[in-house]
Amino acid sequence: MNKSTLMSKAEGLDAEDKLSRFRDLFSIPTINNNQVLYFCGNSLGLMPKSATEYLSRETADWSMLGVAGHHEASSPWLSYHRMFAKPLSKIVGALPSEVVAMNSLTVNLHLMMVSFYRPTTTRNKILIVGQEFPSDRYAAASQILFHGFDPQHSLIEAMPEPGSQIIEESHIESILAEHADSIAMVLISGVHYYSGQRFDIERICKAAHNAGATFGVDLAHAVGNVELKLHDWNVDFAVWCSYKYLNSGPGGVGGAFVHQQHAANPSLPRFAGWWGNDEASRFQMEYDFSAANGADGWQLSNAPILSMAAHKASLDIFDQVEMVDIFRKRDQLTQFFFDVICSIADEFDFVSIVSHADPQRRGAQISIRFEKQGKEIFNRLAEQGVVVDWRNPSVIRVAPAPLYNSYTDVAKFGILLHEILEDLRN
Ligand SMILES: *Cc1c(COP(=O)(O)O)cnc(C)c1O
Repeated sequence: MNKSTLMSKAEGLDAEDKLSRFRDLFSIPTINNNQVLYFCGNSLGLMPKSATEYLSRETADWSMLGVAGHHEASSPWLSYHRMFAKPLSKIVGALPSEVVAMNSLTVNLHLMMVSFYRPTTTRNKILIVGQEFPSDRYAAASQILFHGFDPQHSLIEAMPEPGSQIIEESHIESILAEHADSIAMVLISGVHYYSGQRFDIERICKAAHNAGATFGVDLAHAVGNVELKLHDWNVDFAVWCSYKYLNSGPGGVGGAFVHQQHAANPSLPRFAGWWGNDEASRFQMEYDFSAANGADGWQLSNAPILSMAAHKASLDIFDQVEMVDIFRKRDQLTQFFFDVICSIADEFDFVSIVSHADPQRRGAQISIRFEKQGKEIFNRLAEQGVVVDWRNPSVIRVAPAPLYNSYTDVAKFGILLHEILEDLRN
């Protein structure tokens, strides 16, 4: 590895980067007064510096206005959640009425399954992708149990081929064909949390519908990261969290999408709460629930304003950028990363890349496998101020986030990793 060539290449790419000015809008953590190399935006995105101001506006309104803030706050709390419909619809490719900011991811997943997983004695299976983030598997299995079925029988996982972490769309299609009479719902991740694999959502959605199943997507690792056209793709429902690539803070408010075609379907069961009631009659405290139009009708509770203030700070940054610019930089930055790791893997044969080689089939994430010494390498990286993510037994996940990571960050990471590997060899 020629370090100075790598650094000057990175600096050249940074100089041409259309998004480079956004880095300064985020707080980059420091250790001993040095900025860390932060590659954990797939776990917790960095804080927009403006979040402090957005939060203090709400605490100031709360302290000065008390309950009157519902109507008189600078952004009245009563309608606060509505500010998110437009920016979120742009990010997930939906109509504003199809999206709502509410609750958190797993809660929303359950609420959506109440409406879209409606098993019968013959059609009661849920198909999910294999090695999924545990919360999704727990949620799906517990819904199956809740309806009186057995997850052993009714939960199907599409596993990768042995020796690979990639789950081919064709494999999912063949499972769907095989179980076409018995699958009630398909749930996939837009981007797989472990491998960074990006799924062809449109293709799997079609296959699910052809098999007579409803189709939902978990966008935890996809939202703010990859192109989404939920409306055009005919996805039935989607859920996401806002604290990964959407940078809206720990435990930040999640989101949900319900396709317009289901918005006014009165036969769809749902768990109801007063905030999902039609606004015109919400405060008349009427006896019967009358759902608000669109995704809003799935809300339960009044909105968590403090968490939403940070969400607003972040989405106002997204509002200043074209999503295509984020996607273009994601491809280039992740490819640069991929190439750096490939050159290291050429030299150290126990290092390999789990993520897909095709940029169109991954998000802003490269998962690196270390056949040995992985944890030690991870610890040494951490000692040098590199923030990445360790997954047992052997994988380091690295997420170069287009909004705040630079090509220089990537080059520095490559150089540090190379030094650590050389040191361990000696
Ligand atoms: C991050 C993530 C979650 C987290 O769920 P919460 O309800 O927000 O705690 C769930 N599923 C997937 C796939 C994730 O990546």
